[in-house]
Amino acid sequence: MTTVLAARELRKSFGRTQALRGADLSVGDGEILAVMGPSGSGKSTLLHCLGGVLRPDSGEVTFGEIRIDRLADRERSRLRRTSFGFVFQFGQLVPELPVVENIALPLLLEGRNRRSALAEAADWASRLGLDGLWDRLPVELSGGQAQLAAIGRALAARPRVVFADEPTGALDSVAADQVMELLADTVRGEDACMVIVTHEPRVAAYADRTAIVRDGRVVQPVRAR
Ligand code: ADP
Ligand code: MG
Repeated sequence: MTTVLAARELRKSFGRTQALRGADLSVGDGEILAVMGPSGSGKSTLLHCLGGVLRPDSGEVTFGEIRIDRLADRERSRLRRTSFGFVFQFGQLVPELPVVENIALPLLLEGRNRRSALAEAADWASRLGLDGLWDRLPVELSGGQAQLAAIGRALAARPRVVFADEPTGALDSVAADQVMELLADTVRGEDACMVIVTHEPRVAAYADRTAIVRDGRVVQPVRAR
């Protein structure tokens, strides 16, 4: 399996808190990797360093031939926009915009014309089972529907890597299963890979491998499913 994304010896502190203390991790082509571990162990910080949201204090993050940790802020945000998709615990949809426009946002940012961006966003909405909900505002959706819309937005620009931080944390188990099924199927169907932070074993069961984080390190072995 080809490695898409690799982190080596990542360290990151916030003031006196050492959130990462030498974390190593890699994600292969087509792989879904779950990241589990206690609250405060550094999972979100690790995800943010991998996704170029945060710059580690030291260590390396490699995406193909690119050293993400060495990129200037502008290049890092460009890479995030063009190659990565993010899903968070609370969808973080733009409250003023209907579902279809939320999903279209990354396409519009890419410079696509409005008509084709909205048409493609409507396709995504259908694929995610949101037919008939295109015109709704986020406040008019259930938690599960809002999360599906957020997934549509994360995937619309066809990212190489999807980062999800407790994407089912605010959902009941039925909605969580529906969200995970669609998320995992879509990521696999798009030939993307995904790093998903979760504390729910039923969510980790959708992954190919699980990495456990403890005290700012990925403790070995990373077990296969
Ligand atoms: P997890 O996602 O596993 O719960 P985090 O990566 O969010 O853990 O946090 C790891 C440690 O770093 C925690 O002690 C947390 O309080 C601290 N931390 C994370 N982000 C910040 C921040 N922006 N400022 C200060 N401390 C932070
Ligand atoms: Mg977290």
